[in-house]
Amino acid sequence: MKTLIEAHKVDGVKVCRSEVEVVCFHCQDPVSEHEQETGTCTNCGESWRPKQSVAVWAASVKGGARTWGQQ
Ligand SMILES: [Zn+2]
Repeated sequence: MKTLIEAHKVDGVKVCRSEVEVVCFHCQDPVSEHEQETGTCTNCGESWRPKQSVAVWAASVKGGARTWGQQ
């Protein structure tokens, strides 16, 4: 499940384009809509807990390089 947030401005401050993805807390595997419904991760078999991975595209970097951070 990915949510893409396009670059925009908040109070005149530019916010980079970013992508938020819900992943399994145990194995970091992306959680699909089916897994969200069942509550069980099909990758590791655990009932997953949400953990967000955030990818941010820096506007000044060519080629869409991504920096991964954990929340
Ligand atoms: Zn898992």
